[in-house]
Amino acid sequence: MLRDVDINEISDGHFYSLSDMAKLGCNECAGCSACCRDMGRSVILDPMDFYRFAKGGIGTFSSMLEREVELNITDGVILPNIKMTGTDSACPFLTTEGRCRIHAWRPGLCRLFPLGRYYENGSFRYILQTGECKAQNRYKVRIRKWLDMPDPVSYEKYINCWHDLIRKAGEKIPRMDDRKQHEAVMYLLKEFYEKPWSVSGGFYDEFYERTEKLRETGLL
Ligand code: SF4
Ligand code: SF4
Repeated sequence: MLRDVDINEISDGHFYSLSDMAKLGCNECAGCSACCRDMGRSVILDPMDFYRFAKGGIGTFSSMLEREVELNITDGVILPNIKMTGTDSACPFLTTEGRCRIHAWRPGLCRLFPLGRYYENGSFRYILQTGECKAQNRYKVRIRKWLDMPDPVSYEKYINCWHDLIRKAGEKIPRMDDRKQHEAVMYLLKEFYEKPWSVSGGFYDEFYERTEKLRETGLL
């Protein structure tokens, strides 16, 4: 979710890259599940999250829309997010012991927290959001390790490409007539979320093929 805020108000004022260390360590969240509750619509899911959900046997876009996921307008387009549920407004993947049931397959934004991404000049750097993680005495961890994502360089390239695609869609779609708006919104949902990803292959090649196909449609 894009935020138009003063960077110094929400972060420690530093920019980080994969090889940097930042005060992120929280003892594996022992006794805390604060960022898995009351998160509203903020845990937005990207296409790779659904590739990983499929790979981990968590569910498909369609099956998860029945319980764990909902659709909302975010940054001018319709995107899925984790649906906080129950009286305590918790993530449906949070166990009664306060642990993540899908830890190995958790979404990219859960891996990132409490880091954020600061986009500028066609790429991004990481920021450490202050006042987000509730852990005291956090210790330094290398960001590459914190993200716990195989091939983090390819992952960053993909995130940047997806961010750019959604940003442009968010600018263009509101200026279209109703019919085109519907067509573009449905195309994004169907091609990047609903259509299964081949879990036997790598994700990235297929993602770039789909972005190329989108470009050829001239829709966005
Ligand atoms: S998917 Fe896991 S880490 Fe992410 S909000 Fe839900 S319980 Fe927390
Ligand atoms: S707020 Fe910090 S310590 Fe608590 S669950 Fe989230 S990341 Fe872990």
